[in-house]
Amino acid sequence: MTKIEIGSVSVAKGEKANGTLKIGELPDASPIEIPVMVVNGRGDGPTLWVQSAIHGVELCGTFAIPKIVKELDSSELNGVFVGIPAVNVPAVRVQGRGNPYEQFAHPDLNRVFPGKQDGTTTEQFAHAFFTQFKAHANYLIDIHAAHDPNSQWTIYPKMDNDASKESLTLAKNYGLPVILPSVPGVLASSMFAVAVRDLGIPSIILEVGGTSTTYGDKMVDITVQGIWNILRYLKMISGEPTLPEKYFMIEEQVVMNSKKGGVFNALIKANEKVSRGQHIGTIFDFYGEEREKIVSTVDGIVLNVNNEPLTMSGGITFQLARGSEE
Ligand SMILES: [Zn+2]
Repeated sequence: MTKIEIGSVSVAKGEKANGTLKIGELPDASPIEIPVMVVNGRGDGPTLWVQSAIHGVELCGTFAIPKIVKELDSSELNGVFVGIPAVNVPAVRVQGRGNPYEQFAHPDLNRVFPGKQDGTTTEQFAHAFFTQFKAHANYLIDIHAAHDPNSQWTIYPKMDNDASKESLTLAKNYGLPVILPSVPGVLASSMFAVAVRDLGIPSIILEVGGTSTTYGDKMVDITVQGIWNILRYLKMISGEPTLPEKYFMIEEQVVMNSKKGGVFNALIKANEKVSRGQHIGTIFDFYGEEREKIVSTVDGIVLNVNNEPLTMSGGITFQLARGSEE
């Protein structure tokens, strides 16, 4: 019987268990522990590692992962499902994106992988977490969220290796119709890119729902369905994935930054088609006078709309994408 041991979790084949993994300590010497859920299937198969809230305000997967674990029947599972509903517990506690205890360096946990054993607070956190991931995982689904509550696309690391090719297949089998390749250098020290580059572990990021309270039940359901799709694709459970007829494959992502500050009014929604020259948003002053028209520079789709009513000069108003259907 192959036992799985992660932090306080010790689970025999054919069983489920929840527990915690210690990844650091607070100033009062109490441990920082993150939740771990493991379903150790009776049958043999790969280990699928699914995690959420590596950015502490991106919570759609935090609701989705326990739903999967509760429904998964360990006697009918081939392989192991590891669910981490909230990776960045210090950030989640203060409802922030990054670790509030990080004082001197980069507080974004998803920019410091594989971490360092003798590094900064965030680097030590990344190292402790990545060590467990490396010891167990064969596939990674890393669940994030964008600003817009309707956002839904999958990202895979585009590199010249087999794990990258398999990541694209994983992205397609998750079942969201929009796929974005992450080119080398853009998210170089993110967990999913390091997993593909250094460990050869196929990995995808999901951008589903909005941040904080804007994730929505519909987006949680979409996330849950995609995880079932991957479990079916990997033959960890029976059945076939339910997939879209066509995918929109992104060739270029375009971030629209405003030039003026003011009150922002968007004229399009996430997932809508957009054409070059189209007026897609307006920035007004507090007297209601127009200060800037935001005009699309691409023919493509809308990935993300900033749902904040106010913007500063240089603020992100839209994420657009150019690409083609296949
Ligand atoms: Zn994120």
